[in-house]
Amino acid sequence: MKILVVGSIAYDAVETPVGKRESQLGGAATYFSVSASYFTDVGMIGVVGEDFDPADIEMLESHNIDTSGLVKADGKTFRWTGEYMEDINTAVTLDTQLNVFGDFEPELSEAHANARYLFLANIDPALQLKVLDAMDTRPKMVANDTMNLWIDIAKPTLTELISKVDTLLINEEEAKQLTGEDHLPDAAKAIIKLGPSSTVIKRGEYGATLFGNNFSFAAPAYPLERVIDPTGAGDSFAGGFMGYLASVDKVDEESLRTAAIVGSTMASFAVEDFGLDRIKNMTKSEIDERFNAFVDLTRFNPLT
Ligand code: AMP
Repeated sequence: MKILVVGSIAYDAVETPVGKRESQLGGAATYFSVSASYFTDVGMIGVVGEDFDPADIEMLESHNIDTSGLVKADGKTFRWTGEYMEDINTAVTLDTQLNVFGDFEPELSEAHANARYLFLANIDPALQLKVLDAMDTRPKMVANDTMNLWIDIAKPTLTELISKVDTLLINEEEAKQLTGEDHLPDAAKAIIKLGPSSTVIKRGEYGATLFGNNFSFAAPAYPLERVIDPTGAGDSFAGGFMGYLASVDKVDEESLRTAAIVGSTMASFAVEDFGLDRIKNMTKSEIDERFNAFVDLTRFNPLT
């Protein structure tokens, strides 16, 4: 297995300006895995409840995702309720029920513990840290994501975790909240000071900016005519980003730049329908075509 991911696996209740879903498959690890599966082999660590639909496991396995690290526990699957109002870029959390994630203790097989890439998707940073500590060998690259809830209630643990990862992927608002900086480059600098060698700051329909020690790179969002459901855009971005890096097995400035565009490509598909409906049924040629549209979107001539 190339990439191991831990993070929420959820049933979400979501309302967007276009419509409403009472209970759709979601969760940070779910979006990440499906997105990354178009590029490389992925294994998931996490927990679901008795209410988890076997068809959802089948969908993950149809993408060649290793679900042997998904435990089924007594109780209910993680549940998130959110809505998007006029600002389609920012989810408003109405309710978060950790349910079976409340007391989940991760167990890693030998294959899990030796994955070359590790993504610590959004979930309690204490759990992210446990998975990182349980690795037998330090992966070539470790990245993580987080959100305002964990910055509010678990900042010391989150800061410890961030000091140990290579790349932090985070929303603009959350980067500002985490660092106390109002200006994006200052927030990125403060994140890099915490330990990572790069950070990707996600800005919804305005794209994402990658900051390294000595460079920065702006990846636009694809100018879609209609966004149906932004849920999972960030995790789908992360799946494309890490999936590409794992597929080329290179983490340098050039590959990080390309990875950011692959991330934007996958995020642009994720928001075209509710939940995973769009990204669970994609072809490699659709991905290539949209990636090439990004090349065109950002093409310009040097000043002579
Ligand atoms: P995003 O890519 O940021 O839109 O992430 C969307 C997913 O994050 C949803 O499917 C939710 O189930 C999940 N989520 C929401 N809140 C949390 C939380 N506090 N911890 C982990 N996952 C969450």
